Amino acid sequence: MSELHKFLFDGLPVRGMLVRLTDAWTDILARRAGNTATGPYPAPVRELLGEMAAAAVLMQSNIKFNGALVLQVFGDGPVKLAVAEVQSDLSLRATATIIGEVQDGARLSQMVNVGGGGRCAITLDPKDRLPGQQPYQGVVPLHGDQHEKLERLSDVLQHYMLQSEQLDTVLVLAADDKVAAGLLIQRMPLKGEGNLAGTLSHSENEDQIGRNEDYNRIAHLASSLTREELLTLDVDTLLRRLFWEESLLRFEPRQGADGPRFACTCSRERVGRMLQSLGTDEAESILAEQGHIEVGCEFCGQQYRFDAVDAAGLFTAAPVVQPPAPFSLH
Ligand SMILES: [Zn+2]
Repeated sequence: MSELHKFLFDGLPVRGMLVRLTDAWTDILARRAGNTATGPYPAPVRELLGEMAAAAVLMQSNIKFNGALVLQVFGDGPVKLAVAEVQSDLSLRATATIIGEVQDGARLSQMVNVGGGGRCAITLDPKDRLPGQQPYQGVVPLHGDQHEKLERLSDVLQHYMLQSEQLDTVLVLAADDKVAAGLLIQRMPLKGEGNLAGTLSHSENEDQIGRNEDYNRIAHLASSLTREELLTLDVDTLLRRLFWEESLLRFEPRQGADGPRFACTCSRERVGRMLQSLGTDEAESILAEQGHIEVGCEFCGQQYRFDAVDAAGLFTAAPVVQPPAPFSLH
């Protein structure tokens, strides 16, 4: 069962979270494997997408926000787009668009940052967005301060969180074909909540970066966690092994119906809006060629079919502008 655990270090300004996606993750992989148009993910993409899913759960849980947290990597290599989306209730979905060959053992830069043009975007899309209101989005490149290409997603996100929240953060991520997991350790803000959108003044927090000895000690312990341990150890064993000298206050874990789980938010209505945004000409040319329009959701595999009558109905209503969604036309 997929699970999310939160904990505090007693009396210290440090908090932590550990996520293990099991059924939620294998569900996502099974849907992709069942898609005859794409087939299963190559292993390096599976690892990247699993790490993104785990990271997105941790980032969503780390903020007070009602809506979707969308973690995206826009690539300039064979992986054009990788998306993990987590709602406030921890339901999640993920997909990747691959064009071309992903070599066995491909590193992050070989998948998404071949020419240095890869980007990672974090979007907070409020549930009750007002008309005209734009979702918050932060974008970071996939290289470090010396312009070196980063090869770990965790390094990209740690950098982002340090910049946007002004809080020291350690993130350890790992994924294989059964588990996608992540550990987050963060220094707590001096005042108020951490804020991914970075809209508050954080000068006092900024002054503390790297200076808190308790945080530094715990961060050092967290960084020693290996991929193997993160993927195979149960939560109690893992926390005991890493932090056996520390006093942990643990919260009730979120699991099952209350925990991280796969769910897709696609619907016939949303697909219809996507077709409207394509325009009449495009829709008519597909209809002329194929007699109907077939749209598949890349997150869950659901197929939506629109015949000429359905399509005519769509285009008699006023077109609605919709942000691009990874649906594929067949
Ligand atoms: Zn779907």
